[in-house]
Amino acid sequence: MGSFAYINAARTIKIYAKDCTAKNKDTPFYCWNPDCKAKVNLKAANSIHKEPYFGLVSNTLKHTGWCKKITLEKTSRDYDSHGFNFNKIINNLLTEPPRTSSNTPVINSPTLGLPAPGTPPTTTITHSKPVSISDLYQICKSLMINGDFGGIKRKIMLCDDKSNFFYTKGILGYHLVECTYHHYDPLKKTIYFKYPLSSTLPNQYTVGLKFYNDKLFKKLEKFFYKCPANQIIVLAGNWKNKSGIYVTDCNSKKAIYTL
Ligand SMILES: [Zn+2]
Repeated sequence: MGSFAYINAARTIKIYAKDCTAKNKDTPFYCWNPDCKAKVNLKAANSIHKEPYFGLVSNTLKHTGWCKKITLEKTSRDYDSHGFNFNKIINNLLTEPPRTSSNTPVINSPTLGLPAPGTPPTTTITHSKPVSISDLYQICKSLMINGDFGGIKRKIMLCDDKSNFFYTKGILGYHLVECTYHHYDPLKKTIYFKYPLSSTLPNQYTVGLKFYNDKLFKKLEKFFYKCPANQIIVLAGNWKNKSGIYVTDCNSKKAIYTL
């Protein structure tokens, strides 16, 4: 289920499920993943229990690629971009222990400090701020290639097939990288991945997660070893060039997202 789809094959005009009416329910639209050929249509248009959403038109082509898992139920429009600091979020993902929920609503208090005893809460709930790797990934995937969130361009945040043209000099600094597992090196405590997903794109790199925590390395090394070859993996990192391989230190599984 997706919260939006595209009206045209060129994928330049978006349509949001919440803006549709029952009139739209038989119209086929294009999948929210521009590289997927599947057609979707409006579901739950008349439901009183469920928000309308886009789902696969029955008996047609199936989804191919990340849209099988990433439904873009939330898009960049559904997140609070105020004070967005991409690098800081990536640093948190690389270092902090896992959190239980990524969708904690942000509560904006109009007054600083604690309210006087007995005062009813005067808080308003707004869009949540992105905190997890899946939040960042969903935001990027819902943006057009030249789009931005909180003033940061999609192509700078996410190295995927679409932004491959931009990475002619390697992957350096803070980025999410969409890749597949390649191998691991127990001596260097590093797990290596291949970027991009497509083997025909010009800018091909190996990226690595370097661990300092033995337990975490062993656990993840086993996990990736068992991954299917085409498993899409998203990594958060602050990438540095180490002899032509782009490596980030990683101390948390929060920096890894498997689709
Ligand atoms: Zn699709």
